[in-house]
Amino acid sequence: MVSKPPGTSRGSNPNSLSTPDVAVVGAGPIGLAIAWRCAARGLRVVVHDPDPGSGAANAAAGMLAPVAEAYFGEHELTGLLTESAARWPAFAAELAAAAGTDVGYRSEGTLMVGLTTDDLAVARRLWAYQQGLGLPVTPLRPSELRDREPALSPRLRGGAYAGTDHQVDPRRLISALRTATERAGGVLVPTPVQRLTEVTAGTTVVAAGCGSAALTGLPVRPVKGQVLRLRAPEAPGFQHVIRGFADGEQVYLVPRPDGEVVVGATSEERTDTMVTSGAVLRLLRAATDLVPEVAEYELVEALAGLRPGSPDNAPILGPLPGRPAVLAATGHHRHGIVLTPVTADLIADLIVTGTPDPLLAPFTPERLGPVAAAAGSPAPAHGSAAARLNPQEESWS
Ligand SMILES: Cc1cc2nc3c(=O)[nH]c(=O)nc-3n(C[C@H](O)[C@H](O)[C@H](O)COP(=O)(O)OP(=O)(O)OC[C@H]3O[C@@H](n4cnc5c(N)ncnc54)[C@H](O)[C@@H]3O)c2cc1C
Repeated sequence: MVSKPPGTSRGSNPNSLSTPDVAVVGAGPIGLAIAWRCAARGLRVVVHDPDPGSGAANAAAGMLAPVAEAYFGEHELTGLLTESAARWPAFAAELAAAAGTDVGYRSEGTLMVGLTTDDLAVARRLWAYQQGLGLPVTPLRPSELRDREPALSPRLRGGAYAGTDHQVDPRRLISALRTATERAGGVLVPTPVQRLTEVTAGTTVVAAGCGSAALTGLPVRPVKGQVLRLRAPEAPGFQHVIRGFADGEQVYLVPRPDGEVVVGATSEERTDTMVTSGAVLRLLRAATDLVPEVAEYELVEALAGLRPGSPDNAPILGPLPGRPAVLAATGHHRHGIVLTPVTADLIADLIVTGTPDPLLAPFTPERLGPVAAAAGSPAPAHGSAAARLNPQEESWS
């Protein structure tokens, strides 16, 4: 790790130096945010990526949802999501100022809904768990839901409000992070890294999303998510993020002020990015069940992204076993957008100070056991180490 006082090399040109302080592999939200934070602290930073922003973030909806995404058995992950979501307002403002562009941060909150009695029963079980953790979930009757969002279907049986679950536009986020990184002196190199031995730097950060497995041997596997982008004729007729259960299907709708509405998403243990007619059908049926007017919106885009999943759904953060100068910042799975601020802060702090923040402790590569202990040897194929740990199965969320 670099472990030097910040500001010592600020203003120098990383291009002119054979050995930068920090090399980041991967220019998704995680790699770029780490690069920005490091460059802003005076370190010489190079980011390697042949196609910045082309990973999972290009498909992401941008929900910042520590409450709605608080699931049974993921207590430590929920803590990190909550911490990062709390950092988002300041992060968004600082980034907007540094880049000169807005990242689409919106704070209206999230309405969680159930279409049928059965859907509501499933949802209520989850809300009770979330309330038990002390998270802010306010139950709402159907009439109260429709008071807040008249565009919601009158068929809904009930819902709840998660006021602290906000949203951001991931494509704007990537664009702003690129600009801020370059303005802070970071250099983007448009080539892929085949092996970590190609990279020379004081510290190397592997933030290559699903590409991280082949570089490190860490158990990061692709989890396919199909998602749609619709466009309302003017602004969408609703402002909150809507998430819900509709006849057993889970779906979300994320409205943006420019008229875009993101509808997602499947969650499939697959490595391809094909869009299937069945997925489009199920997403649109569930979305129109909850918000009927979206049937009138234009269908602009259907795509699939590959989430970088880890065996316990939590990110992998910290030095590879036995390789203190190589840091993993990967495995963010469904949460890479909400976890961007905290990941960038913790990894940049670790690089600058050499001391890990206690928040990192539950997320080290070592926690994953023998597979991660062997990290450093490249995996034989894309995501295959993890695929062995996670038998092929298809789910929907
Ligand atoms: C459908 C869908 C919806 C989602 N919705 C949300 C959401 O609402 N909220 C949320 O928080 N998260 C969401 N996510 C998850 C989120 O997108 C990811 O967790 C996040 O993008 C991970 O960021 P990353 O930078 O680690 O990886 P990525 O975004 O995948 O970026 C990785 C980058 O690494 C580069 N790369 C790969 N291999 C190499 C190599 N060998 N050399 C150089 N560069 C390389 C790629 O080109 C890419 O640019 C969603 C994901 C999907 C697919």
